[in-house]
Amino acid sequence: MNIVMMGPPGAGKGTQAKILAERFDLLHLSPGDLLREAVREGTELGRKAKTFMDAGLLVPDELIVDLIGARIREEETGRARGVILDGFPRTLRQAEALDGLLEESGRSLDAVVNITLPVEEAVRRLTGRRVCRGCGANYHLLYKPPRALGVCDLCGGPLYQRTDDTEETARSRLEVYRRETEPLISYYARRGLVREVDGRGNVDAVTDRLVKALRLGP
Ligand code: ADP
Ligand code: AMP
Repeated sequence: MNIVMMGPPGAGKGTQAKILAERFDLLHLSPGDLLREAVREGTELGRKAKTFMDAGLLVPDELIVDLIGARIREEETGRARGVILDGFPRTLRQAEALDGLLEESGRSLDAVVNITLPVEEAVRRLTGRRVCRGCGANYHLLYKPPRALGVCDLCGGPLYQRTDDTEETARSRLEVYRRETEPLISYYARRGLVREVDGRGNVDAVTDRLVKALRLGP
């Protein structure tokens, strides 16, 4: 099964994509995670992407399509039961490129999940988010605090706040989402692929709704 996760920044795409990928043997692909890794490693892609990311803007389509295209073509991807795309596509050009990439690898898109969340709750989730530098695990100061302040429960690594999770940049990213990404929902709705999922409530409640919406149960 090949799934696209849509929804505003902070909706819980990354949190849920990790859970579903593990539970249902899907390969989780997140351009945001891959870009942050490139920035950390100081690669050419990382240098090009950083200014856009820090400003809360989208990174140019051709860089993103190359990055995700390379992953979709990898052998490892062919062995998973499917892919779960979290944060891609974010523009119409990316959506069209994805159709080509999937076709090329003999796959097709089975579902597009749209996780909905009110803007103010998205801002609360983004500004409270903390991420582990070691293993990338996600925390939240109020909703999912680590056992020890600033330390990852899973690997003991230090937690940090993403540079784009300040309130000002979070609000611009939500606006970019509304303007550039939300229109994709009607692009996919025309193909009958969209499943709406309420992103409010705790992580387990949202996972249950996703499993039902995607009919992934046992
Ligand atoms: P996205 O990938 O859509 O930007 P994340 O999955 O990173 O969103 O979630 C944003 C923040 O909200 C993180 O700090 C995460 O721990 C927290 N979070 C995710 N889902 C929930 C939920 N259902 N309830 C409360 N907090 C959540
Ligand atoms: P995310 O981790 O999904 O919140 O993404 C963080 C940032 O990475 C975004 O604000 C963009 O700058 C960049 N980014 C991630 N995915 C994409 C994409 N599909 N297209 C363009 N930029 C992206």
